[in-house]
Amino acid sequence: MKETYSDFIAKSTIKAADKEHRRKINFNIGKYNAVVPKGKEQFSDVNLARERAKNIKWKAIETLDKQLETFEANITRRGAKVIWAEDAQQALDAIKKICEEKNCKTLVKSKSMVTEEIHLNDFLEKNGIESVETDLGEYIQQLDGEPPYHIVTPAMHKSKEDVAKLFAEKLGTDPKATPEQLTQTARIILREKYVQAEIGVTGANFIITDIGGVAITENEGNARLSCSMPKTHIVIAGIEKVIPSMTDLGLFWPLLSTFGTGQMVTVYNTILTGPRQANETDGPDDMYVILLDNGRTNIMANEKQRESLYCIRCGACLNACPVYKNIGGHSYGATYSGPIGAVITPHLKNMDEWKHLSYASSLCANCTEVCAVKINLHELLLENRHESVEQGNSSYGEKIAWKMWKQGMLHRKWMNIASGKIKNWVVNSMIKGWKEHRGEMNFPDKSFNQLWKEKNGNR
Ligand code: SF4
Repeated sequence: MKETYSDFIAKSTIKAADKEHRRKINFNIGKYNAVVPKGKEQFSDVNLARERAKNIKWKAIETLDKQLETFEANITRRGAKVIWAEDAQQALDAIKKICEEKNCKTLVKSKSMVTEEIHLNDFLEKNGIESVETDLGEYIQQLDGEPPYHIVTPAMHKSKEDVAKLFAEKLGTDPKATPEQLTQTARIILREKYVQAEIGVTGANFIITDIGGVAITENEGNARLSCSMPKTHIVIAGIEKVIPSMTDLGLFWPLLSTFGTGQMVTVYNTILTGPRQANETDGPDDMYVILLDNGRTNIMANEKQRESLYCIRCGACLNACPVYKNIGGHSYGATYSGPIGAVITPHLKNMDEWKHLSYASSLCANCTEVCAVKINLHELLLENRHESVEQGNSSYGEKIAWKMWKQGMLHRKWMNIASGKIKNWVVNSMIKGWKEHRGEMNFPDKSFNQLWKEKNGNR
């Protein structure tokens, strides 16, 4: 059994039985469910908006090479430097080089899943650089030594009491402090870090081709401070983040905020088109944009899976997924959790090691129903299973079991050979784990086919 799989089973078994965990998740996702329908009312036809967004992403991904080259030419013209990274190591090496050139001791960082993907904080720590998360949820997670639990709401699994306890342990605050007092504590600490930091790192919600811009969306203003106060700004973006035109933001900004948090539009929306220009007072002296592949071209090369690159990381599919709501974000063991994580992780990493995520789904299609850009997530999960079998990743026992099942299905007489007692024994004793969470299977003595024949003959 692969380690990633046994880890997944162990963690999800514990979480699925953890009622307190479920209570917190249902509470937080419930708040989201209450406001998202209201946010959707801003669209005269929300399905048309989703369809349009999907078409724009289709166009962007189908012409990705040209989009990225045009983006590079446009942003370079205004003084930014673009670095192409094929994998995580190349991105980390580039960041290390910049840190050395800038003699960086402290770096501030806004929330970015792609920096989680390349394990940037661990890398910086090993290289003696302090990396401070400035998004409140990420800051909480960093204090607790945990990765984000959700792609939009990193500390979704923590109650306000949990956060008060954590702050009391790590920062010496009052264990009964209110959320406002805790936020104020974090703010005081973080403001100091913005002033100290030599470098600010952000992700990118969108890379805008026609103006050579990077769009960043956030609710706290921390990303704006991270990219404008330090003298150097590094953007790290997956190559799929492209949209062709700035005017597309008129659709994508409200779509991302509504499907992500139920807001009509997120509080701070920033477009950056390079470092501070000669006639400007704000902004960094230097700006670098790292365009990361790290397995995305594997997905590009796969015609069926390509549409998973349309994802705008709104998180709606996680909130809608019955599996996610039971096992939680950390059980996945991957940077991207929930349905979209289960679709892309086997391609970003390794199918054989991560295929189990695609099997952890009831295929109820709720994810597809809620996706902001109408990605057929449940079909892609099924496609992953198909590709995994095609690649020969199934175990010997599984292959034999399916062969027998196929023969049984093709030959009705074989199905009738086994009595109800034998079928009960096979399911209740031979199928590992069947009885752990279910009652015993109890087949009738005769099959439906046999009863039909007895009643109607061979008609
Ligand atoms: S797959 Fe769709 S619903 Fe899920 S995070 Fe991406 S855009 Fe949002």
